[in-house]
Amino acid sequence: MNLLDVHKELNTEAKCLAFLEHMRWPNGVRCLSCQSPKISRITAKGKLNKKRGKRSPDRELYQCNNCRKQFTETTGTVYHDTHLPLTKWFLAIALITESKKGMSANQLKRALTINYRTAWYLCHRIRKAMIEADVPKLTGIVEVDETYIGGKQKGHRRQKLNEEVAVGIRERGGDLRLIHSVDASSELLAKHIHEHVDPAWP
Ligand SMILES: [Zn+2]
Repeated sequence: MNLLDVHKELNTEAKCLAFLEHMRWPNGVRCLSCQSPKISRITAKGKLNKKRGKRSPDRELYQCNNCRKQFTETTGTVYHDTHLPLTKWFLAIALITESKKGMSANQLKRALTINYRTAWYLCHRIRKAMIEADVPKLTGIVEVDETYIGGKQKGHRRQKLNEEVAVGIRERGGDLRLIHSVDASSELLAKHIHEHVDPAWP
């Protein structure tokens, strides 16, 4: 998708969300927790801010009919953390990948009318993703393992908070890649393997 396509096709949040959904779940939405394909679309009423007397906008969510987990197209992705409109994210990606001489945070700031901090963060994050995409794939016999990291909360013995997963993919007799993952679902593991391992070998 080039800059013009992004400008034409991904010009509203709804279109961006549909695009992300298709990229993330090409065979239909699945629960991020239990992988169930039985998902409902629900609308969460915006919370009332008593000081301002205003209600935040309603939010469209997915809810798993099996385990009741609620999530959105952006849960667990880099887009979720920034609160920047997706339209700007996609324009920034197109601008940075297409500019042959590279793009400074100042140029991005002007092009997208965003503040400098956000522009700097976008430049940094998108370049990092581009470098990661260029890393050569592992070949031969590859072993995959996952480890859980973090977050037990004090006083709640069984409750685990912010637990994250490190996925290690090792080429036998060769490189080890450690990948940060939001969970160890088979869907996400398959995605990591697809990204890091050359399927055509030998
Ligand atoms: Zn579920």
